[in-house]
Amino acid sequence: MSTDTVCFDLDLIRRYDGRGPRYTSYPTALQFSEDLTVQNYIDNAQASNTSGVPLSLYVHIPFCHTLCYYCGCNKIVTHNQERVSKYMGNLYREIEMQSDLFDRARLVEQLHFGGGTPTYLDEVQMRSLLAKLRDAFTLDTSEQRQFSIEVDPRTVTEESIHLLTELGFNRLSLGIQDFDAAVQEAVNRKQSVAEVTSLVEASRQAGFRSISFDLIYGLPLQSVQSFEQTLDTAIEMRPDRFAVYNYAHLPQRFKGQRMINADDIPAPEVKLDILENTIERLTAAGYIYIGMDHFALPDDELVQARRNGTLQRNFQGYSTHRHCDLVALGVSSISSIGNVFAQSSVTTMEYETLIENGTLPIRKGIAVDDDDLLRADVIQSLMCYDELIFDEFGREHDIDFREYFAAEIEKLGPLAKDDLIALDATGIRITPKGRLLLRNIAMTFDRYIGIEENANRFSKAI
Ligand code: SF4
Repeated sequence: MSTDTVCFDLDLIRRYDGRGPRYTSYPTALQFSEDLTVQNYIDNAQASNTSGVPLSLYVHIPFCHTLCYYCGCNKIVTHNQERVSKYMGNLYREIEMQSDLFDRARLVEQLHFGGGTPTYLDEVQMRSLLAKLRDAFTLDTSEQRQFSIEVDPRTVTEESIHLLTELGFNRLSLGIQDFDAAVQEAVNRKQSVAEVTSLVEASRQAGFRSISFDLIYGLPLQSVQSFEQTLDTAIEMRPDRFAVYNYAHLPQRFKGQRMINADDIPAPEVKLDILENTIERLTAAGYIYIGMDHFALPDDELVQARRNGTLQRNFQGYSTHRHCDLVALGVSSISSIGNVFAQSSVTTMEYETLIENGTLPIRKGIAVDDDDLLRADVIQSLMCYDELIFDEFGREHDIDFREYFAAEIEKLGPLAKDDLIALDATGIRITPKGRLLLRNIAMTFDRYIGIEENANRFSKAI
C-alpha cells in the first residue's frame, strides 16, 4: 500500500543530492534524435487512429511582455505584434496539418495552453485560436473536460478570466513564485498579493474548477522566514494545488539568469531548510504530497488519480488522462503518440520556415522499443504510486519481473539499506524518506543513465 506521508531526512538528501532526470518522459528528451523523421511521425499518428484513444492537446505560446530573470523556458520577450501574428499564422497552419492526421471521432478530453505566457494573447487572438482548434479537432464540451491554461497574474483582468471560462477553460495555474517584494524586485517579476487575491476570487466566481499556484524556492534574497510568509499568504487563498519548484541557477545556459546576483542566492543549507519548512506547512495545511514538486488538496483530481491508477508523469509534471495520445502544437513542444515521442523545432525561425515550406515542424524524437516501454511503466509506477508489485507488473507485461530486472533489483540493495525503499520478494515500496528522492530510485531502471555524456544537463534532484 503506497503512503501519502513524506519524511524529510537531511542526511539522506545530502548524500543523494545529485543531478537526475525529472522523468516527464522515458526515455528523456536527451535520447531524442533526428533519426525520427516527419514521415515516421505521420505514419505513427495515422496508425494511432486504430486505437481510437482520446486526445490531449498541448499548445505552446512562447511570448512574454517582460523577462523574469530566473526563467529557463522557451520564450520570446517582445512587444512586436507583427512577430506574434506571424507565429500565430504558422501555429494555425500547424493545427490544420496535425488535425489532418487524426480521426475527428477522437475526442479531445484534455487541453493545456503553456508558454511563455499564454495570456499574452489578447481577446481577438485567444478567441480565434480556440475557434481554430474547434474547427480542427473535436473538443470535449462536457463537464468532464480538463482544459487548463497557465496564467501570468500581471496579464489578466477579471474580464479576461471570464473570457477564459467562456472559451471552455476550467482549470488554471497561476505563476506566483514568491510574494516577497525584495525577491520580486531581484527577479524582475512584480505582482502584489492584492492582485492575486482578486484574481483568485474572480476565477472562483467565473467557475474555474481547479486553481494551482506555482512557487519557486532558491530565488535570490529568499530566507526561510520570507518564504514562510509567502506560503502562509498563498495557503490562505486555498488553491487546489501547489507546484513548488527548485530554482536551478545555470547562467551559462540561460542568459537572463546572469541578471541575478549569485551572492543573493540562498546557500544550499538554507534551500533545504526552505524545502523542509514548505513540506511541513503544506502538509499541515491539509495538502497531500503527490510526489516531486506537487501538492494537492484531498479532493483534487491528482489525488483521486493517484488512488485510482490514472496518474501519470508527462511534460506538465504530474497529470491525469494517462490513456490519451498527446498532440503538441507550437515551437519546441513534444507530442507523445503511441510509441513515438516527437519534438518540434526549438527555434521559432526554423519552426516557421518548416511550416511555410508545407512540412510539419518535427525535428527530432524517438520511437520507443519494448524495453523502453517496460522501463517507462516501471518509472511511472514508482513516481506516481510509490510502489511496484513484481507479480502484478509481470502479469500485466508478460514478463518475469525478478528475472528481467535482476541487475536493477541488485542495484536497489544500497537504497533499501538507506531506507529509501522497502525491498522484498514481492516488490518495491517507497518509504516516506524515499519519496523526496524519487528520481534517484527511478534512475536505477533507466538504461540510458550511464551513457549520458554530461550529467550537468539534468537539474539537481533537490
Ligand atoms: S517565467 Fe514565464 S512570464 Fe517569466 S519570462 Fe519565463 S515564461 Fe515568461
